[in-house]
Amino acid sequence: MEDMTNSTIAYPLSEMLSAKYHLNNMFNRSKPKMTNTKKAVLTKSSCDKSPMCPAKKACPVGAISQRTTSIMFADYPVIDTDLCIGCGACVDSCRGGAIRMN
Ligand code: SF4
Repeated sequence: MEDMTNSTIAYPLSEMLSAKYHLNNMFNRSKPKMTNTKKAVLTKSSCDKSPMCPAKKACPVGAISQRTTSIMFADYPVIDTDLCIGCGACVDSCRGGAIRMN
């Protein structure tokens, strides 16, 4: 019987998964699109500067960045208005209501 080592199985498997990944991306229609001409704006006085900012995770295009200074502390999130597509996901996810569309 032929010796089926991990590499002889893993290589064709990874090729198949890679092809599936590329096909999925080729026909992916759920990519974020420009939905609103308004952009997200942060109100600093309402922001708690949590290093676990949920708005950062909610943004589908990575328009929100934040410099963390330690596990407990971070700077205010920064919204890149050039990247922002105005979807409003950050507004819905911000616990303190610190982000609005303008
Ligand atoms: S409105 Fe949407 S794209 Fe713009 S910063 Fe908020 S989550 Fe990101």
